Amino acid sequence: MDLNTDIPHSARIYDYLLGGKDNYPADRAAAANIVEGWRHLPISMRANRNFMARMAHRLAAEHGIRQFLDIGTGLPTSPNLHEVAQAVAPESRVVYVDNDPIVLVHARALLTSTPEGTTRYLEADFRDPDTILESPELREALDLDRPVALSLIAILHFIVDDAEVRRIIDRLMEPLAPGSVLALSTTTADSAPEEVNAGVAAYNAHGIPTVARTKAEVEPFFDGLELLDPGVVLVHHWHPDEEAARLDDTHVTIYGGVARKP
Ligand code: SAH
Repeated sequence: MDLNTDIPHSARIYDYLLGGKDNYPADRAAAANIVEGWRHLPISMRANRNFMARMAHRLAAEHGIRQFLDIGTGLPTSPNLHEVAQAVAPESRVVYVDNDPIVLVHARALLTSTPEGTTRYLEADFRDPDTILESPELREALDLDRPVALSLIAILHFIVDDAEVRRIIDRLMEPLAPGSVLALSTTTADSAPEEVNAGVAAYNAHGIPTVARTKAEVEPFFDGLELLDPGVVLVHHWHPDEEAARLDDTHVTIYGGVARKP
């Protein structure tokens, strides 16, 4: 398997900035360059990771969601989504999808399901939703007659074309049962324009196409769905715990939201 370790990858930059070990000199050099301008990016990434955990916990505990399709999973980072969901409901079923070979190398750490539930890993590209929907991994693990939470956490900013994001979300939500959920987070410059614009330019300069979106650009990704309280907000404002409540708006540069399919 070719990991292209001399080229920076988004999953490994993210891992490095979260304090992980699965990254290479090219990733660390790119990360250092990106953070020179986007100084609070590591804080925002941690806030995003904690949003993912609160989202999964809340969907399992309060909305009875027992199935998750998590695309753009990233490198295993404790707690992983299935650990949060299965702590609430051990029978929870999770399909993880990423297209970075480094994630595949470490996928074993995602396949630590409870005996009552299941976790599967699929290497696939988000931009090819039909392959994901038709995969044996998804078909065997998820019952599409029952609600599924589609989780797109910190991946949409790598798809720069809004229309393409809409097309993919529509295609993925279409076969899901009523009561299914779309949970997403994606980068914004609204809360810290200078930092984020510099950082996004650095990502692009390192060969990783990236975009920051305004709130008005993020909200339409939920068209046709019922946005759950509190709507599209900086992720630390989404049902904050104590740690999230202490964060400063100018340090958190990613919007999150969760909506229900009627
Ligand atoms: N969801 C995790 C990781 C976010 S990092 C979290 O929020 O903690 C973004 C991840 O999206 C990386 O692992 C990257 O490999 C993956 N990714 C980027 N573009 C992708 C694509 N087109 N298809 C599948 N995965 C993609």
